[in-house]
Amino acid sequence: MNDIVKICKVHGDLTVDKVYIAKSVRKCRDCLLKTQKEWREKNRGHCAIWRSRNKEKYDLHKIKGALIKKKRREDNPENARLKYKKYRDTNRDKILEREKIYAKHSVDSLSDSYVKQAIVKKTSLKYKDIPQDLIDLKRTHLKIIRLIKQK
Ligand SMILES: [Zn+2]
Repeated sequence: MNDIVKICKVHGDLTVDKVYIAKSVRKCRDCLLKTQKEWREKNRGHCAIWRSRNKEKYDLHKIKGALIKKKRREDNPENARLKYKKYRDTNRDKILEREKIYAKHSVDSLSDSYVKQAIVKKTSLKYKDIPQDLIDLKRTHLKIIRLIKQK
């Protein structure tokens, strides 16, 4: 798995996971991404025009990409977990910040997930066992408590 399959002038020895293989040609993945990124930046206007002209194609392309990623995750959950862990480790602050904003929004708006948490807290219920009616009821309950506390 860790055999060197290519040597890049910029990035040195590359193992198979760092290489993009197309038609028996091996390319350095990092260099390829860099080239693509530079091309996109140089042709930003061009891309936007292409996207607006080919919106359907572009959307389809996006959906396809998402599906492929989903399948890859399902085929190899261990790998996906590791990748996510790595992402979490390197983007800790960003994620915490995002979670904080999301949590605040969730509390303010009494979102389903927040209300579910409130229901589950003192019971042995699982999220999937909670019917929507109960969520709505609990939301009303929480709203009333908030109103009382405000006074
Ligand atoms: Zn390279």
